[in-house]
Amino acid sequence: QAKVKGGQQFQIFSEDMSRHLVERQQLETELRCALENGNELELFFQPIYASEDLRITSVESLVRWNHPRRGLVTPLEFIPIAEETGLIGKLGEWVLREACRAAKDWSIETIAVNVSPIQLSQPGFPEMVFDVLLESGLSPQKLEIEITETALLDSSNTTSKRALKALRDAGVRIALDDFGTGYSSLNNLIALQVDFVKIDRSFLQPTSSRSVIWAIINMSHAIGLEVTAEGVETEDQKEFLIAVGCDHIQGYLLSKPLPEASFTALLEEQISGVKDSAAA
Ligand code: C2E
Ligand code: MG
Ligand code: MG
Ligand code: MG
Repeated sequence: QAKVKGGQQFQIFSEDMSRHLVERQQLETELRCALENGNELELFFQPIYASEDLRITSVESLVRWNHPRRGLVTPLEFIPIAEETGLIGKLGEWVLREACRAAKDWSIETIAVNVSPIQLSQPGFPEMVFDVLLESGLSPQKLEIEITETALLDSSNTTSKRALKALRDAGVRIALDDFGTGYSSLNNLIALQVDFVKIDRSFLQPTSSRSVIWAIINMSHAIGLEVTAEGVETEDQKEFLIAVGCDHIQGYLLSKPLPEASFTALLEEQISGVKDSAAA
């Protein structure tokens, strides 16, 4: 009896598995196509605000896939596939090129681009970044690379470490993304030599203690890092973050990720707002 049941379970499991595999394979083929044509992928831009005056000082680029049949596919669904199939190099290069081109004429301090740990560890990554910077005319100081904490702590990877050093030496800023979800010790944080820390959205949940946010901000400031809080959704969270000295805030409360034209318009509004108040 148990054997029969076990056998059936195995069958169901394997049907499920193969469906899953077929689905993935199809997504992979379609992603490959999308990368070749380039017209289904789109970058969105989410403003990052200075806490002191709530002006836009930076922006994070977030990739979207407008799939003809599936609709909008989120990066959480296709970045892992790109990483597993080796497409991440090409995808990451496309994202970087688009972001640098778009940001060239924006009056902001930095444009942030997410980089997969797998891409960071590929030989030739910093050279590719320098090529794109030259080609776009964006200054290296204006580019900020976001890398997740777990990726940076993979200290066994010397290629990634060397890549980060080469980028830093050229003036590119490095941000530690999703901070608090990995296992960074204070020592690690100092050794990593990042410029910014982005506190993970999970710390803003009501179940999370606010003294933890307070501690992260003060610890980061003590070692010379600027702090951004991501995922700010309520007025209350915003007021708290400003009160405890968080340098930058980002989240749906202030703005969702926007298409390029909408973000450009928002920046222009901000600039003309300044002119108006100067004239008044
Ligand atoms: P992330 O880098 O931590 O980006 C923040 C994510 O939180 C984005 O999701 C953003 O849309 C979302 N978000 C921003 N504000 C709020 C908020 O107030 N509330 C909530 N609930 N969410 C908010 P998205 O765009 O779906 O991206 C998810 C993740 O995919 C990113 O997390 C990043 O790790 C990865 N990703 C996105 N674009 C790229 C890319 O171009 N390259 C690579 N390698 N990874 C990317
Ligand atoms: Mg990010
Ligand atoms: Mg993040
Ligand atoms: Mg996050």
